[in-house]
Amino acid sequence: MSVTFQPALYYEVTARDNNQDCVNYEQTFTVPQFYSNAGTNCFVTCGLCGQHMEILTATLLDPQPEVS
Ligand SMILES: [Zn+2]
Repeated sequence: MSVTFQPALYYEVTARDNNQDCVNYEQTFTVPQFYSNAGTNCFVTCGLCGQHMEILTATLLDPQPEVS
């Protein structure tokens, strides 16, 4: 994975489904508020095929969203 995450931060992430058997194949999705958790094992999962998408970009949100 070429994209790296720092732990415990929110990112805007774009991800692409590379599963040829999925109707989302080669479609790109944006996750506007993606939490990095520990900074590892950050995955975007396709809601249809259940496979991990390839994360293309991750932009640190600035400012970080207020979460209570
Ligand atoms: Zn899929």
